[in-house]
Amino acid sequence: MTRALITGITGQDGLYLAELLVSKGYEVFGLIRGQNNPKYQLVRDTIPEVTLLTGDLTDVSSLVRVLSLSQPDEVYNLGAISFVAYSWENASLTSDVTGKGVLNMLEATRLYAGDDIGKVRFYQASSSEMYGKVQQVPQREDTLLWPRSPYGVAKVFGHYMTINYRESYGMHASSGILFNHESPRRGPEFVTRKVTQAVARISLGLQDSLALGNLESERDWGFAGDYVEAMWRMLQQPEADDYVVATGQTHSIRDLLDAAFAAADIEDWSRFVTQDPRFMRPAEVDLLIGDATKARTVLGWKPTVAFPELIGMMVENDLREQAALAR
Ligand code: GDP
Repeated sequence: MTRALITGITGQDGLYLAELLVSKGYEVFGLIRGQNNPKYQLVRDTIPEVTLLTGDLTDVSSLVRVLSLSQPDEVYNLGAISFVAYSWENASLTSDVTGKGVLNMLEATRLYAGDDIGKVRFYQASSSEMYGKVQQVPQREDTLLWPRSPYGVAKVFGHYMTINYRESYGMHASSGILFNHESPRRGPEFVTRKVTQAVARISLGLQDSLALGNLESERDWGFAGDYVEAMWRMLQQPEADDYVVATGQTHSIRDLLDAAFAAADIEDWSRFVTQDPRFMRPAEVDLLIGDATKARTVLGWKPTVAFPELIGMMVENDLREQAALAR
């Protein structure tokens, strides 16, 4: 039985990846942080097959112990402080977890592999936020990185450290540069879920307005369930490498509002939406759009869920969830 260790198992991607690997017959271990983590039960209820082990990305000795207990063939490092807006307020903590945490995980993996570096494969969750002030449109694996937030800077550190372990030690370490990916499991602090939850509540008469930041931002939004498939495919390649994972289509926050309100049969959203400077960022990533040609040709990967379906799926889920909560 192939064994996998996933950090960030309690997050959106961790849950989808764990489901995928369990369906492929893997034995799956997940790293979980802290005492009485409130998300422990969520993972238990969603995927009871997963074994949860306690550790923290900022504590190398805990990672060494978890690797030794789980004896993985594949390590997926998805754990991070992942909310960009928060990273300005907590830049040092974000650097420790999202940046140095990658080094800690790589080093613990190298120690675990010992003389047999080939016995383990490593996946690093890199991010389109690394492109920040984009130097090329669309963005590819070799586009110059220009991060625009402490989160983006920390992800750049993790990305280059992953490449460095591949080049220094011959580790099978791959970095997936994933563009925004969403789902009904997305955290409500991210704009897609914030919008779909609000649209559901407005449509059910539970809320009458929605305050947002920059409506002109554009993102390349895909479905998280598709993106974890790309992660797995990267680790099945004979050689480790870096890949952009994206849909190649970009949409503005306004398009997101169109799609979400349309899914709840509301045509004119202007009377519900206000702009609030609290949700504006000190620096903005304006136009992210990925060129996933390499993932398509080498990994045979392609997205299966288009933007309107993705947002429709999220609104439908939130309508169900909010109606149940209101009962
Ligand atoms: P990110 O790409 O990882 O930062 O994902 P987010 O979903 O947090 O933000 C995507 C874009 O939506 C950014 O350009 C934000 O500035 C923009 N945006 C506009 N209004 C909001 C809002 O109220 N909340 C969030 N999270 N983002 C917003």
